[in-house]
Amino acid sequence: MSESEAKCPECGKVCANEHGLSVHRRRAHGVPGAFAAQQARGKSGAPKGLRAKAEAGGLSIRESFAHAAAEVDRAGKIMCDCVDGLAVLLEAARKLRLAYIERSDKLRKLEAQVAELDQQRA
Ligand SMILES: [Zn+2]
Repeated sequence: MSESEAKCPECGKVCANEHGLSVHRRRAHGVPGAFAAQQARGKSGAPKGLRAKAEAGGLSIRESFAHAAAEVDRAGKIMCDCVDGLAVLLEAARKLRLAYIERSDKLRKLEAQVAELDQQRA
């Protein structure tokens, strides 16, 4: 069916063009000409319907790609959050380690002072 052909939405009859369809619809179904032609443009024919369906299919593929992209985005964000969290944990661990080293240094100094006092007493 070519672009100019038009299908009757009432009975499915394919007319050679929109004018033919509007004549058919007026005669067969009592639909006023101008309205019939206008309505036919929106609803006419399998090709337009199939194209709309294909476009809808394409859109849904595009949508699923967008969805997949959003998923990847979200996963990436979660990974960033994890890395950020890991960085925070590592920083906290580094501070704890420094605090531990500092305290063990103090402890060693105290032990040394105690040993010194013990030697002085002896
Ligand atoms: Zn008809």
